[in-house]
Amino acid sequence: MDCAQCGTWNPDDKVRCWRCGAELPKPAEPKGSRKLSSQQWVWIIAALFSVLTILMQCGIFRGGDSGNDVGLLSMPALVLAGAIT
Ligand SMILES: [Zn+2]
Repeated sequence: MDCAQCGTWNPDDKVRCWRCGAELPKPAEPKGSRKLSSQQWVWIIAALFSVLTILMQCGIFRGGDSGNDVGLLSMPALVLAGAIT
């Protein structure tokens, strides 16, 4: 950024102007980055997998045991297909 005092350009990571020594304003950083880090994604995926595993163990996604049952898992797909056509 440019020094407010002398107008000299300074690298963004500098705290003081290299020429006149005036304190430089802090670079505007995006507050609380909305983007999730890759580590956070790993945790989210891991959590999803554990939830899915628990649900499958409860037999929620098994469906179709009787033969006539569509099964809960295919329901959203059917709804989607109905909404598109
Ligand atoms: Zn300066």
